[in-house]
Amino acid sequence: MEEDLKRIGKEAKEDLDKAKTLEELETLRIKYLGRKGSLTLFIRKIGDLPREKRPSLGKLANEIKKNLSQEIEERRAKAKERHLLPPLDLTLPGKRPSLGGLHPITQILNEVTGIFLRLGFRVVQGPEIETDYYNFEALNMPPGHPARGMLDTFYLSKNTLLRSHTSPVQIHVMEKEKPPIRVISPGKVYRYEAVDASHLPMFHQVEGFMVDEGISFSHLKGILEVFLNGLFGPKTPVRFRPSFFPYTEPSAEVDIGCLICKGKGCSVCRQTGWLEILGSGMIDPSVFKAVGYDSEKYTGFAFGMGIERIAMLKYNISDMRLFFENDLRFLRQF
Ligand SMILES: [Zn+2]
Repeated sequence: MEEDLKRIGKEAKEDLDKAKTLEELETLRIKYLGRKGSLTLFIRKIGDLPREKRPSLGKLANEIKKNLSQEIEERRAKAKERHLLPPLDLTLPGKRPSLGGLHPITQILNEVTGIFLRLGFRVVQGPEIETDYYNFEALNMPPGHPARGMLDTFYLSKNTLLRSHTSPVQIHVMEKEKPPIRVISPGKVYRYEAVDASHLPMFHQVEGFMVDEGISFSHLKGILEVFLNGLFGPKTPVRFRPSFFPYTEPSAEVDIGCLICKGKGCSVCRQTGWLEILGSGMIDPSVFKAVGYDSEKYTGFAFGMGIERIAMLKYNISDMRLFFENDLRFLRQF
């Protein structure tokens, strides 16, 4: 009996040395340890032996079984590992990592700020939650001023609100610094608007202003012409139209020649040949008074523009909502 057991153990070891694949290992397991496997059958027979022979043979058989199971398990793990690793082919082309890209709004913001940085402006950002004072009052819009109605503002409390334009940054900067100042301030603004192809409750503006002794409207015109030619191309026609803003006097809307029809008239420019692109003007003396500047000594200009509108005109996009739906098919085009 003991000889038989030793033979089974020896055979199993030899078979084990030959078994390489998962299938071969499974065949081997069934051959020895399966329900009708030779080792299983042998162990079952031990029960029929005389009592005194059982312990020594039983112990040996269990040892062989345990070693065999362990060995099979280890080889199976190794075979699996081999199976998982594909053969290495150094001639295959590398996998290209998918790179992210800048959102078109960020690209336009960078482009706009880039032009002003070259003109000696610096970037200052302000808070998106403002007080009534910074969003309105210091900008010459005291309580009850009709111009407040033009900016449909989200109020957080009686006195705090989500800024409805980037102009409050002017006040923050001028409160802290003395002229000369040349600052632009990009950022998000919020308006209580029904969402449609050209209105969103959140969009981006860039505010800019320059204050010093002897700043005149011709500086305003010069800087904005250089900027618009930088952004839309060197021969873009630019015109200034009288307008009204409470915090500038005089005020002007700035138009560029329609990019779509080149001035002939189309539906985008409503047949005028011109596109409204930004608002601007000479800073009102009452704003200087609010920040403690001597308006006899200092003058300055300010301007503001919507970034989504510029991106729409530049890329010929008809629906503003596309910028924030984050459809990769749309975003990958920029
Ligand atoms: Zn047009």
